[in-house]
Amino acid sequence: MNQLHEYAPFVKRHIGPSETEQKQMLNALGVDSLQALMAQVVPEQIRMTTSLDLPEPLDEPAMLAHMQQLADRNQVFRHYIGQGYYGTHMPNVVLRNVLENPAWYTAYTPYQAEISQGRLEAILNFQTMVAELTGMEIANASLLDEATACAEGMGMAWRMTGQKRSTFLVSEHCHPQTIEVLRTRAKGLGITLVVADDAQLMQADVDCFGVLLQYPHSLGRVCDDRALVESLKARDIAVVCATDLLALNLLTPPGHWGVDIVVGSAQRFGVPLGYGGPHAAFMACRDAHKRHMPGRLVGVSRDATGAPALRLALQTREQHIRREKATSNICTAQVLLAVLAGLYAVWHGPQGLKAIATRVHAFTARLHHALTSLGFEVVNSSYFDTLHIHTGEQTERLRALALKQGINLRYVDAAHVAISLDETVTQADWTQLCALFETLANTQAKQSGDTLDSAIPVALRREGAALTHPIFERICSETDMLRYLRRLADMDLALDRTMIPLGSCTMKLNATVEMIPITWPQFANIHPFAPAEQVQGYAALIEGLSRDLCEITGYDAISLQPNSGAQGEYAGLLAIRAFHEANGQSERNICLIPSSAHGTNPASAHMVGMDVMVVQADAQGNVDVEDLKRCIERADERLGALMITYPSTHGVFEQSIDTICALIHDAGGQVYLDGANMNAMVGLARPGKFGADVSHLNLHKTFCIPHGGGGPGIGPVAVRAHLAPYLPGVVSEQGWCQKSQAVGPVSAAPFGSASILPISYAYIRLMGAQGLRSASEIAVLNANYLAARLGEHYPVLYTGQSGRVAHECILDIRPIKAQTGIDAQDVAKRLMDFGFHAPTMSFPVPDTLMVEPTESENLAELERFIEAMVTIRQEIRAVEAGEVSLEDSIVRQAPHTASMLLTSEWTRPYSREEAAFPVASLRANKYWPPVARIDNAWGDRNLICTCPPLQDDFEEIRS
Ligand SMILES: *Cc1c(COP(=O)(O)O)cnc(C)c1O
Repeated sequence: MNQLHEYAPFVKRHIGPSETEQKQMLNALGVDSLQALMAQVVPEQIRMTTSLDLPEPLDEPAMLAHMQQLADRNQVFRHYIGQGYYGTHMPNVVLRNVLENPAWYTAYTPYQAEISQGRLEAILNFQTMVAELTGMEIANASLLDEATACAEGMGMAWRMTGQKRSTFLVSEHCHPQTIEVLRTRAKGLGITLVVADDAQLMQADVDCFGVLLQYPHSLGRVCDDRALVESLKARDIAVVCATDLLALNLLTPPGHWGVDIVVGSAQRFGVPLGYGGPHAAFMACRDAHKRHMPGRLVGVSRDATGAPALRLALQTREQHIRREKATSNICTAQVLLAVLAGLYAVWHGPQGLKAIATRVHAFTARLHHALTSLGFEVVNSSYFDTLHIHTGEQTERLRALALKQGINLRYVDAAHVAISLDETVTQADWTQLCALFETLANTQAKQSGDTLDSAIPVALRREGAALTHPIFERICSETDMLRYLRRLADMDLALDRTMIPLGSCTMKLNATVEMIPITWPQFANIHPFAPAEQVQGYAALIEGLSRDLCEITGYDAISLQPNSGAQGEYAGLLAIRAFHEANGQSERNICLIPSSAHGTNPASAHMVGMDVMVVQADAQGNVDVEDLKRCIERADERLGALMITYPSTHGVFEQSIDTICALIHDAGGQVYLDGANMNAMVGLARPGKFGADVSHLNLHKTFCIPHGGGGPGIGPVAVRAHLAPYLPGVVSEQGWCQKSQAVGPVSAAPFGSASILPISYAYIRLMGAQGLRSASEIAVLNANYLAARLGEHYPVLYTGQSGRVAHECILDIRPIKAQTGIDAQDVAKRLMDFGFHAPTMSFPVPDTLMVEPTESENLAELERFIEAMVTIRQEIRAVEAGEVSLEDSIVRQAPHTASMLLTSEWTRPYSREEAAFPVASLRANKYWPPVARIDNAWGDRNLICTCPPLQDDFEEIRS
């Protein structure tokens, strides 16, 4: 019998072009073989001569069987640990139609708003939900996790108060992992962090610019901090409050007592524990502070016809525009998870959420009653869902009993435990939990009726409905929900409909087989602070993936903790800082960054307290080595690092990379190589071997984790041995950082977004060494084919020495703009009429399009794209020839909606057919953009970032 991998090897499913197509493309390029093409593209001095040492590839059934074996080594316990992570039920209709639906998970960040209206609406629901529950005016579209949201809150408080004072107080009642992540972040920014008790908070002195409170406390108490907040505000101290969205259904929101910033995790709104992530964190603030807010923000604007339309608002705050002056380095966030949490609220509605919260609270109150009747002291008399219990000398016995029954509690110290209840707790769970304590007490607990008083202080009980927007009342039946989800998905273009040729973003296949294991309970229902013995499967997976990634990159050690590429940059730069410090060279704090760098690079350098010095590019787009030498000289003893992207954001393998690395090392600096473009290099060259000291990878680019419409992501940071001691510290089982580590944790969970690691693990094991190398080669082949074919119509801005590009190419629109006024944005919008998502626009060079086809697109799809681009070039000629004005041109008017075209009158200089069906194939397969071109500036001037009223939607917006 044939093995499946013989007649259908996975690699053939992953790679788009067939062997015949590959030959055809090579012929078109005038090259004999892939090897010959690689010889032209990858500089000889860095090219690998051996094959990667990776396990033999598995076929799909074998892969799933292997994943099942790993999964079975994880033990799914009943978790009452809490501490920011709670059991929850994802609504099944959402599980199947969103989390398991490529229309949602393969979408890109909604920069091209016209083709992203569905997910923008879902994010707007999330923002509205957060704003209403927290009682704040404006909420963003998600942050990476609760602890980093607290750190962002600290940074924002600092900016809001003018960066003149330097002490930040964090309440001792915050989650332990939050405090550790704050410590890491504060050190980089030069902020003095003080863990404060209630009295110290009250006495915050003149150097204090902000405080962080937790509500309810990590150990459960619901504390009335209104007087404290009032007193802090009177002293112009910014107040950040971390809170719990479920509790806020019953509690007065912090927004009502004057805090400036509210943060937290939306995990318990339907997103599985996942051994720590991914989950969406949220941040809400007062309207007055919105320009200081980090992360993305969805807002309402209008399109060219005056119809309401959504898009990202206030983008000038972001790193891709403000670079080191940006409000943060957040690029990839947690959009898919925010969508899931927002939909959870839409599904349950205000009554449903309140009922869930009330039930959780009632179970907790009954547990409190039972435990007290058994003689246990419950330390907190007020609570929502968490009890802090004195168990004295019985603690170890309790632990043993609980473990035997498959139960995890939070062991606070030798004499105390904490128990957090959640949505998933059943009567049977409750009885089992209670029985543990009955065994300890050797007696029966007193049963209580169902009418126990609330343990929420009267003054803190929420009055009225927490969610008031009609969107949360509109969905009643599953039929409603199913159609709502379908309607939203249909508005968007994701990889399930078209190639998304976004340069630098590597939108490649996210294979179904890679996705399947992530929702298995043995991966999904594990608490991040579960004891190590219970997570042997995860441990094996993490070890295997770490080993594979080290082999692929040529580095010696890796941390999978960072939740995005930018967080990986941050972690890598922290390692460099700590290394210099350990060598007694803490003055080495200048980071050289080429002018073409991604905006997150300077923003991350800034976050670790480095000063950025820009290195110029030469006429070929390469790092100008002469300028680099001048910069090295100027930085002198303060040279800390060079941060360089390779192959470069200009889409070429620079020949002099080894010289560049040597120059930096000779001057005492370290080389940070941004690994976002690793898709051009896997199996061909290894940064850890050709001169770099540290890199981050984007598992959501090169290693197949889907983009999810703007996250999740994983940005592992890989280092050579000398930097290994400075990888992010791990918050261990009970949340306390191992103090010996030089660098603290960068995110809340020990392994960041652990539950999506199986995707990258599976990809590598399905492809094997040969397959991965082929993927890189075909990515380069596809890019060069596009460059060759499109180069006749749009100049390719940069090529390497041999006239070839790497895995992406930059098409220059500037000559067209100079002649006609038509710019990159016009081309991007016109592509929507062809059913395409635009390439990356105006990065790294203004008015260019950066095209990255990836290895997953076949020749037919490349041809479809070429046809669209060539047709657009022809359309532009009408403007060039003076036949139509710029404003009236088909390109400037794009995209065209059905309602723009299906009118009885038509006065434009082109036909309706040309607008909708510029190429014949569209007649059979047409995507209709749901809105016309969106007016970004109008939306920023009239900022609305929550759902507008449903009826007569936006009448005033039209005016
Ligand atoms: C995508 C990208 C980043 C940032 O990664 P995120 O995961 O979005 O934070 C950094 N550098 C380059 C070159 C990139 O393309």
